[in-house]
Amino acid sequence: MKQMEQEKHTQRKIEEDLEKLGVSKGDTLFLRVSYKAIGSIENGPISFIKALERVVGNDGTIIMTAFPHKHIRQLRWFHRNEVYSSTNVPKPTTGAIPTLALTLPEARISQKLEFPFIVIGKYSEYLTKNHTHNKSGYWLLQEAIEDLGCKCLRIGGEPFVGSTHIAFDDILKEKGYYQTKLKYGLFLYEDGKKKWYDTPNTVFCRTGFKQYVDDIVSASKLSEGFVGNGYAIITDMKKSLSKERDMFRKDIKITLCNNPNCLDCRTSFSFSDETNWIFFKRQFFNLFSNKRKTAIHSLGFLFNKLMFGIPVQG
Ligand SMILES: [Zn+2]
Repeated sequence: MKQMEQEKHTQRKIEEDLEKLGVSKGDTLFLRVSYKAIGSIENGPISFIKALERVVGNDGTIIMTAFPHKHIRQLRWFHRNEVYSSTNVPKPTTGAIPTLALTLPEARISQKLEFPFIVIGKYSEYLTKNHTHNKSGYWLLQEAIEDLGCKCLRIGGEPFVGSTHIAFDDILKEKGYYQTKLKYGLFLYEDGKKKWYDTPNTVFCRTGFKQYVDDIVSASKLSEGFVGNGYAIITDMKKSLSKERDMFRKDIKITLCNNPNCLDCRTSFSFSDETNWIFFKRQFFNLFSNKRKTAIHSLGFLFNKLMFGIPVQG
């Protein structure tokens, strides 16, 4: 037990690591942090937030996603008793750090609770109060990128630059592409009334992303290092967003992966390379081979898409 405690990082050590990485006073940061990658910190994940707050200071702003668990639009009746409000916000599904951040008195959450961000610091009130239902899902982050020079701080986990959803969405709209996908959302109480809100979820392929992320990282990298035990990298989000828009505008098909079982890439986009029928036939024949398990999954996804999928632009 004693030995385990010795291995814990102190908050001061985390502050030093963040400073060494290049985080400084007045920064606006969008976080994607794996607490597990950092390793244990004295007093747990809350110490990471405290360390970051100290390093960015009173003029700094910290942003993270707080996306909740959602339900399929057409099946909302089954979830009619699950209703959230500004005093009963949905639990984030985005990890230990956002979940704990929400408990801090200085943390604020978007008005748009169907697509919320948590913000701490100087611009928290401005960003969260103005992120209302009529704004786009990523409005808050886009505002931080364009007006506050927001940088992405990633520690551990998969490659990530934070701007890909925005760029992908923009180019789908610009080029008139669409995606047939399931619509999700949740119920909220507002002014004493219960209402369903759709979540504006943009889905790009995570496997496809790995094929081009290196180019985006090298176009936007500001610094890299370690925070605790976790590999850490800071990217300039204005640069990553601009690079992604250029790449997607030039050839949107770079976002597609090569996996024959990826329903998103094979059939869901207007620029996908297969029809539902071709996808179905391949998976159907796979039922009688050693690929049976994958085929069952894939057919399940296809069935869901055919039942509940709605073509959405952007
Ligand atoms: Zn894919």
